[in-house]
Amino acid sequence: MADAAPTPMMAQYLALREEAGDCLLFYRMGDFFELFFEDAKTAASILDISLTSRGEHNGAPIPMCGVPVHSSEGYLARLIRAGCRVAIAEQVESPAEAKKRGGSKTLVARDIVRFVTAGTLTEEALLEPRRANVLAAVCEVRGVVGIAAVDISTGRMELEECAPDRMGAALARLGASEVVAPEGWDLPLDSIPRPARDFASEGGEARLKAVHGVATLDGFGMFGRAMLAAAGGLVAYLEHVGRGKLPLLLPPEARGSDTTLAMDEATRASLEILQSSQGQRKGSLIDAIDRCVTGAGARQLADDLSAPLTDRQQIAERLELVAWLHDDALLREDVRSALRALPDIGRALGRVVAGRGSPRDLGQLRDGLSGARNLHERLGRREAVPVLLTRLLPALSGHGELVDWLSRALVPAPPTERGQGGFIAEGYDAALDDLRRTSGNARRAIAALEAKYRDETGVAALKIKHNNVLGYFVEVPQRHADRLLLPDSGFTHRQTMAGAMRFNALALHEEASRIAEAGGHALAAEESHFEELVAAVVEARNAIAATAAALARIDVAAGQAERAAQGGWSAPEIVDAACLEIEGGRHPVVEAALAAQGERFVANDCKLAVYDRLWLIGGPNMGGKSTFLRQNALIVLLAQAGGFVPATRAKIGLVDRLFSRVGASDNLARGRSTFMVEMVETAAILAQATERSFVILDEVGRGTSTYDGLALAWAVAEAVHETNRCRCLFATHYHELARLAETCDALSLHHVRAREWKGDLVLLHELAEGPADRSYGLAVARLAGVPAKVVSRAKSVLDKLEKGRAQTGGLAAGLGDLPLFAAAEAAREETCDTLRERLKEVDVDALSPREALELLYQLKREA
Ligand code: ADP
Repeated sequence: MADAAPTPMMAQYLALREEAGDCLLFYRMGDFFELFFEDAKTAASILDISLTSRGEHNGAPIPMCGVPVHSSEGYLARLIRAGCRVAIAEQVESPAEAKKRGGSKTLVARDIVRFVTAGTLTEEALLEPRRANVLAAVCEVRGVVGIAAVDISTGRMELEECAPDRMGAALARLGASEVVAPEGWDLPLDSIPRPARDFASEGGEARLKAVHGVATLDGFGMFGRAMLAAAGGLVAYLEHVGRGKLPLLLPPEARGSDTTLAMDEATRASLEILQSSQGQRKGSLIDAIDRCVTGAGARQLADDLSAPLTDRQQIAERLELVAWLHDDALLREDVRSALRALPDIGRALGRVVAGRGSPRDLGQLRDGLSGARNLHERLGRREAVPVLLTRLLPALSGHGELVDWLSRALVPAPPTERGQGGFIAEGYDAALDDLRRTSGNARRAIAALEAKYRDETGVAALKIKHNNVLGYFVEVPQRHADRLLLPDSGFTHRQTMAGAMRFNALALHEEASRIAEAGGHALAAEESHFEELVAAVVEARNAIAATAAALARIDVAAGQAERAAQGGWSAPEIVDAACLEIEGGRHPVVEAALAAQGERFVANDCKLAVYDRLWLIGGPNMGGKSTFLRQNALIVLLAQAGGFVPATRAKIGLVDRLFSRVGASDNLARGRSTFMVEMVETAAILAQATERSFVILDEVGRGTSTYDGLALAWAVAEAVHETNRCRCLFATHYHELARLAETCDALSLHHVRAREWKGDLVLLHELAEGPADRSYGLAVARLAGVPAKVVSRAKSVLDKLEKGRAQTGGLAAGLGDLPLFAAAEAAREETCDTLRERLKEVDVDALSPREALELLYQLKREA
């Protein structure tokens, strides 16, 4: 291969390589996918497989590595997880076809049949059962951001529009594993650029109509132009990665940003909803509450927690179902054990519609749909069924014909491979049964031939064997071959091996042809039945998806009920007033962690109301402030997601936006200047929190010097109290902030209790009214194991500082005289008004230049 002109294979490879763009190219050669050049180096290092070389290109050896086709899924999974995308180039004709086409030296034609990317997986092995896998497309149309998102493993698609500054929050909710956007658009994200023309609203609308075979999208909901444009980009990308073949797409749902509890990215991260700050499911909220028995249920729960509701009616319906299952333990266990046995029909459907379904997937659909029917019978018999369930029940039945058909057609446990056949049940197709009988008979005949030939030749070691090259043949040891080589023996020589010879025989040939023919016909028959069944499933896809969704919703409710029963949780009362009354509230994650160590969680109350909406919480480090803040935010979130809450009683005024901010030093892992981040995030709260919002602020202002920090914390607390007027829990270690209580009437002081006992600090994790009496910083240091000498030195420094403070009036001296945030604002407004009045009175034309100048000086003095 050293010559300058590339070999035909190299030319083919390079053309496909070009087409693959920035994806790794998996180039099919027989039983392997091979990778070459840079691709080989990348893949070999990620997969930890050996890098070899093959031939030369431009005088240099070509690096190469390969993975076996039959185990390629696992390798693909690792490459995708490492952030790669892969183009799969398959042989699209057999070597025989190539030979027929252009002679014996003709290269087998290859084509990229599919791109595998993080957002477009359907393979069971590549997906996590309990996590949705979301692909999103974003674009902007006239100042409105459109987002289209789909989980192609189940076909669920939703469209959303938002203001550009909410895009980050919207994408954070989706947690997409891949995002595509028009090229040239400056996105602050790791997105994949796609041609801008794909993102046109007319094109998007046309594509959706075509996909669903409808003349108008009105039946699915109202969609804005930006939504449709994003949908266009999404569908175009799916066409690209599937090389024209689209995966399962269900009718799009419009997700209005005003129907869900808004949470930005920082809030999601700090509340550790779907993953902990370490990026794992362990330690997250969902990990602590998920008791779903199906993967689909767990995915629905994640969706619920990512987008809690703001509609009282909807929340009430979900709660009613949870309560129904909560109050009847037998019923709950009955439902859960029925669900537990069900396969993941949503994902099986996704594979079948995408054209990558197996007989096993059809078997799963059969079992899942018939299980749904059983559940329908059991639940339908009950009286006083919750409203939500009466709406879900119809979706559980109605597949009678399809289930019966699948049951008749398929064997009990169909295989994942369909190439070998054997998945169509006996008795389903008489012709197929005949073919099978024929080949069965022929097989028995061949077994009988072996005995006959042994007899005839007198060679006891004679055997009839089979391989893929020769088919059936007779084999005898070399030393006995003479007898079979005689001209009239009836055997023809085929092959000489070391120590053995292989022969053909007429009767054997005839039986073998019979098997091959019958087998070929049987395979073809099974294949055509398979296609028929697939077509029936594709036809029923929307109804099957609805069944899957209904099962998932019931699983979520049963899981919530189970969790509530295990933890003694209660049903929250959702009201319109802007209150938050939690009695005996607990933090589900911290409580579980403590329980694992045999320790008890101390439950605490929270009681916010319009006239007492800002709680300032002091107390020692490690006293439980952060935990208290978060538990209340999580209780709101859980309640609005429609579940029970870890509290003995909860009355929650609907929250429109939830914010959680943590002071900078807890966030060291982040790249940007942490104090800058803290301030940017705080600014967002001050700009966005409304009277219906709930905000938790944890040590805001900590990331800078003491004076700056105190000043900022002070001003932020004031602004939240006066301007945002939202419900807020504000944890701080600045005692000085307590003075805010003198001027802010809806602010009250609280602290986490601690006690010093025989020189040791005891943290009680108990919330109490009133300001914190002291900081206990030194006691905490001692508790943490700081050497006694250092602590006692710190004590003498502290004494000195405190003496100084007593003389000057302390850090907050004089703050009490500051006009309040609003008062300062009002004063400024007043000045503006006076100036405006004065200007209105001036008759400019009547002024001499000198008078005008004097007036200007005068106004400047007053401003
Ligand atoms: P702070 O924010 O005041 O520094 P944290 O909320 O981080 O304190 O709590 C520190 C530790 O105290 C937690 O990790 C937990 O182990 C324990 N803790 C917090 N709240 C409680 C509680 N209500 N009951 C029992 N232990 C608690």
